[in-house]
Amino acid sequence: MQVPEQWQEHIAQLKQLKGAVILAHYYQLPEIQEIADYVGDSLSLAQKATETQAEVIVLCGVRFMAESAKILNPDKTVLLPALEAGCPMADMVSAQQLRALKEEHPEAIVVSYVNSSAEVKAESDLCCTSSNAVAVVRSIPPEQRIIFVPDRNLGHYVASQTGRDMILWPGYCPIHDRLQKAEVIACQQEHPQARLVVHPECTPEITAMADAVCSTGGILEYVKSSPDRQFIIGTEQGFLYTLKKNCPDKEFFIARSGFSCPDMKLITLPVLAECLEKGQHSITVPEMIREKAAQALQKMLAIRP
Ligand code: SF4
Repeated sequence: MQVPEQWQEHIAQLKQLKGAVILAHYYQLPEIQEIADYVGDSLSLAQKATETQAEVIVLCGVRFMAESAKILNPDKTVLLPALEAGCPMADMVSAQQLRALKEEHPEAIVVSYVNSSAEVKAESDLCCTSSNAVAVVRSIPPEQRIIFVPDRNLGHYVASQTGRDMILWPGYCPIHDRLQKAEVIACQQEHPQARLVVHPECTPEITAMADAVCSTGGILEYVKSSPDRQFIIGTEQGFLYTLKKNCPDKEFFIARSGFSCPDMKLITLPVLAECLEKGQHSITVPEMIREKAAQALQKMLAIRP
């Protein structure tokens, strides 16, 4: 997609003026992916945030992503262009609920998916993303009990790969959890040659059917290196833009129509421009919470998948 020239120039000028870098998630609108300096999944966005020299990080994603960038870069300004862009799954567990669960299982350590609030991360021993969750859990001694929050589907997938019996919080992504077996079968009947590649936020019933289960970054690597030409994709539909751009000779079919996260679509070019013009919305995390959450995130970043 070609971003209109006037927007390209306007946003480039603002970026230079403010000393900003734009990081965008794969689920963002195509025009936001095009104008961003870097597009990636949650893990690579967190890594990029630690590497950038820019004074201002504009995080085109949802709140927990901007919070993670701020937690890792307390001296930088981190802006979330659409303040209301949240993650319903992250809201499914509070720090208070997690503290209560820890009291029930004082022997357990807590692994939290990055799709969680700063307060929940601060209550956690380690964080993980969908790309490194298996490696993070494998890094924990086998006899150690683990509480995994908030995604029961990712937790189930990790348990199936590691053989670990984890205490799973019953949260889920309403977008991925909604994908039904019958929808996948209908799509497979329409495209019998296509490989089925899904995100681990899908239900165990769906991941059991898949040829590959990967994070968005993992899906991209999988389709790039696969000799196959057709793929049914079980994740948010914004990601198809990246896949088509990187593999123009391959075909991609979304597993369900309307596989869209409304929170990820709140950032448009005018919203991004206004964010840069006004320096809004600057993310803050109380220092006591930030310090603890940073430890959990740093431990994750030190583990190689
Ligand atoms: S796709 Fe799901 S997990 Fe990702 S931001 Fe949207 S609701 Fe949250």
